[in-house]
Amino acid sequence: MSMTGQLLIGQRAYRGENGEFRGLDAATGQTLEPAFGGAGLADLDRACSLAEAAFDDYRARPLEQRAAFLESIASHILALGDELVERCMQETGLSRGRIEGERGRTVGQLRLFAEVVRQGSFLNVRIDPAQPDRKPLPKVDLRLRNIAIGPVAVFGASNFPLAFSVAGGDTASALAAGCPVIVKAHSAHPGTSELVGRAIQQAVSLHGLPEGVFSLLFDTGRSIGQGLVGDSRIKAVGFTGSRTGGVALMNIAADREEPIPVYAEMSSINPVLLLPHALRERGAVMANEFVVSLTLGAGQFCTNPGLILAIDGPALRLFEEAAVEALEKAAAQTMLTTGIHGSYCQGTERLRAHAGVETLGQGLEGERYQARAALFATSAVAFLQGLALREEVFGPASLIVRCNNEAQFKQVISALEGQLTIALHISEADYPQVRGLLPTLENKAGRVLVNGFGTGVEVGHAMVHGGPFPATSDTRTTSVGSLAIKRFLRPVSYQDLPAALLPLELADANPLDVPRQINGGRVHD
Ligand code: NAP
Repeated sequence: MSMTGQLLIGQRAYRGENGEFRGLDAATGQTLEPAFGGAGLADLDRACSLAEAAFDDYRARPLEQRAAFLESIASHILALGDELVERCMQETGLSRGRIEGERGRTVGQLRLFAEVVRQGSFLNVRIDPAQPDRKPLPKVDLRLRNIAIGPVAVFGASNFPLAFSVAGGDTASALAAGCPVIVKAHSAHPGTSELVGRAIQQAVSLHGLPEGVFSLLFDTGRSIGQGLVGDSRIKAVGFTGSRTGGVALMNIAADREEPIPVYAEMSSINPVLLLPHALRERGAVMANEFVVSLTLGAGQFCTNPGLILAIDGPALRLFEEAAVEALEKAAAQTMLTTGIHGSYCQGTERLRAHAGVETLGQGLEGERYQARAALFATSAVAFLQGLALREEVFGPASLIVRCNNEAQFKQVISALEGQLTIALHISEADYPQVRGLLPTLENKAGRVLVNGFGTGVEVGHAMVHGGPFPATSDTRTTSVGSLAIKRFLRPVSYQDLPAALLPLELADANPLDVPRQINGGRVHD
């Protein structure tokens, strides 16, 4: 399959005429062929009309067909073979191993959601049968199920060109829920986006689905992305990216005549708490593991460990020395885009120039668009003084906050903004202190983990990749794992519907064999 630079609107592919742009080679900054035509407002309107027209048909299709469609997207992505891997490597500067691994995750995610659809718990079927003889008043028959929310707009992330992009977690969970999807392609990997978009387009056709189930738009500015969020036919938004981008889209969605939910995953510095006993017992080992996590993928993970908290003393200083020793051997790595590289350089410069910050060490120097890892330290007092030291520096940079005592350690934790992850490094002797901290940590993060780092997000049923603002825009949800489907569903209750009119999943005989809760009892599989 070759790239054409065309918009994919339903089953059509044609060139957008609202300006053009090209992908860039992340390592050299050179432009890549072909040119991508930007969508105009008429293209946006066409994609939204098709999505709206497809909605009721798509969501009513049998669950088995929906599941097979998701699996078919996975197979079509794999069938793209090396063309996809190589284009993605070029556009992102990420290694073959990383891209192949991410492709595996993307395909695995689609298959996971196929299983979720088949299993049927996402429908949350609840039945409270009628009690006509109840006194003093008869009880009505009430039956509830979740239905798809409507067409969803998806904005992919630059740092996961496959797993959080065109066929990434947001798209997979929205399609699984029964929602048509319109993706606004990330401008940093347009070729990758087109290839994956065509794979989805083929799967739509193969499964005889209405064409508006999927469209892919390229935008040469901001008007198409913003227009999509503002369009009355769009009923929810999935976004992964910067805090400014996410907040801009949240504001547009909130200002609409009919406001809609925006599920934005934005900014997190993922604090790592080094508890005293663990720090004394295995500080050097922890330091080496920390540097591996910090520099993984040039630090371009939303779960990158951007902050270390510990009580100051000889054990922390030994940890710092070991971390600097490891960091100084860390090779510089190409960043995803020249813009991200520029922001990283500005962010590390800002920390270096801060009066309350000490530069502890740096990684090896590299080529023009490569990031040099960096480790800084500051006092708890300086950290608490303002927001300047709490901002995310996207890339392989981290800040150690030296606390004078346990009270200050707790004060720093309390001052943190919402996070995707908080990691604890502990020994058994630290358990009493950890027990006291857990309620605060739960209030701050979507995932609390022990003796590890947040990088490497398992895609499963019990994963939460979310958290209080600014980690995400909606602390009740996750963008990774099977629970992500909940974002694109809404409950509908049916009162006294005649059996002949009931949706199949609510029928007494349970012909779809879905898990159900009867009269508030246990859910039966
Ligand atoms: P981004 O710039 O927020 O872009 C994500 C998507 O949203 C892109 O499709 C982008 O369009 C679109 N977008 C952004 N702002 C918009 C707006 N105001 N109106 C309409 N659409 C908008 O995120 P990113 O590309 O992943 O990262 C870029 C910067 O965010 C980096 O400098 C990085 O430092 C920071 N950051 C990223 C992450 C992350 O997890 N990805 C985390 C923290 C910080 P275009 O493609 O046209 O730009």
